[in-house]
Amino acid sequence: MDWELIDLRIDFLPGVNTPGETERSFHIVISDGEILSIDTEPRWRPLNQDEMRWLEIEVIEQHYLGDVAGIPLFAVEADPDADEPEGYTFDTLRSLLSNLEEPAFNLIGKAKQIVEWHRDHQYCGQCGKPTEPSGFDRSRKCPECNRYFYPRIAPSIIVLVARDQDLLLARPARARGHFFSTLAGFVEPGETIEEAVHREVMEEVGIRVRNLEYFSSQAWPFPNSLMLGFHAEYESGELILQEEEIAEADWFHYHNLPNHPSPVSIAGRLIHDYIRRLEA
Ligand SMILES: [Zn+2]
Repeated sequence: MDWELIDLRIDFLPGVNTPGETERSFHIVISDGEILSIDTEPRWRPLNQDEMRWLEIEVIEQHYLGDVAGIPLFAVEADPDADEPEGYTFDTLRSLLSNLEEPAFNLIGKAKQIVEWHRDHQYCGQCGKPTEPSGFDRSRKCPECNRYFYPRIAPSIIVLVARDQDLLLARPARARGHFFSTLAGFVEPGETIEEAVHREVMEEVGIRVRNLEYFSSQAWPFPNSLMLGFHAEYESGELILQEEEIAEADWFHYHNLPNHPSPVSIAGRLIHDYIRRLEA
């Protein structure tokens, strides 16, 4: 089956046990965190088996990701210093973000995180001995102290705070470009995600919120977040900004929003969802 005809939502079955030789396969090639794209393709697709065979690039490891319409799919960890082969370009995942459907973006994000997990867990963090594949799931194991190392996912909260027709948007201090977004931050050890929402809002802008409502989540592989999106209602307090994190924050009427994220990110979806509700 051609990649263009595949619906990843239905056709992708994740797996960890590498199958034997097959006549067909797909390969997502990653070098130094960047994704290989085929120059002649208008939309990104993975390489097929023939393209992979002829690709002049040193392969460090292939990680089986699962099966797409019966065809095995691999994340290929390529030499991080590899030059771009003729006819191909290395792109950052961020630069592909706006040109990919969400399932394809998630799949490439998965490939990238598995390659990074493998690279970061060559040695045991406790005793320093080389790790080895555990063989039965997506983990590496230390033969010396029997510890297992899985790909790590960092839960983060992202929250749209609203006060009737006004949305609280902030310009992150470290962001590239002049744009405003919802508030976000990592969940800390020992914290529930709801506690993280209250703490982050208080830390970043000094206000209290109430009536948290879970919205949806988004895998955000920069490098390994899982964004958990919430709506929240303003309760009390004046805006006091945490300077290191927030350059600027304010209430904006929904008819008059500053430059903000598109619905390709969960921040954009939260904003759109709230406006849709206001207008309903
Ligand atoms: Zn060890």
